[in-house]
Amino acid sequence: MTAALGMQPTSRTSGRIERFNTIVVGAGQAGLSAGYHLQQRDVDFVIVDAHERVGDVWRNRWDSLRLFTPAKYSGLPGMPFPAEPMHLPDKDEVADYLERYAERFDLPVRSGTRAESLVRDGERWILRTSRGSAASIPIASTLPLPRMASAASFESTSVDG
Ligand SMILES: Cc1cc2nc3c(=O)[nH]c(=O)nc-3n(C[C@H](O)[C@H](O)[C@H](O)COP(=O)(O)OP(=O)(O)OC[C@H]3O[C@@H](n4cnc5c(N)ncnc54)[C@H](O)[C@@H]3O)c2cc1C
Repeated sequence: MTAALGMQPTSRTSGRIERFNTIVVGAGQAGLSAGYHLQQRDVDFVIVDAHERVGDVWRNRWDSLRLFTPAKYSGLPGMPFPAEPMHLPDKDEVADYLERYAERFDLPVRSGTRAESLVRDGERWILRTSRGSAASIPIASTLPLPRMASAASFESTSVDG
């Protein structure tokens, strides 16, 4: 049985192939913001993230960490940071905010899914992850992926994992 990106095959899958218009790599501030705007535009997309929970990259930082930017400048599109404007959020507040943001907008985040390679295959891009899959228009946050040109369609391939 195919387990593309940890999901059962659906109407979007064909055997070992799963298709999206866009895949966003990373569910940090950049990836979630991109997801918000893609959703506003009805783009078919998915966000993959290596961590098990949205915000884990912040949860795993040192305990005394606080942002140097106050809450009023730390919100993402569509959802202000829930604190007094000049409050300096600590790392767990940031983590929880990111997690609630993904939940509030029901962003399609596939956690525990590490992007491992990106290769061009004709007109499409194949993104292989720790749980299988791919896309033709990957959007990287701060990850060192090559710059991508827009493509009209894409396909994803799952691998056993
Ligand atoms: C200690 C610290 C303090 C900071 N304080 C501030 C501040 O006060 N104010 C401010 O404006 N900015 C601050 N920044 C900068 C700010 O955090 C970053 O600009 C912002 O987090 C970048 O967001 P991002 O989504 O691009 O990357 P990240 O937040 O790093 O998110 C990247 C995501 O990609 C995932 N990922 C990584 N590799 C893979 C892979 N191979 N496959 C799948 N998923 C993957 C990670 O799990 C993570 O969720 C701080 C940064 C640090 C490190």
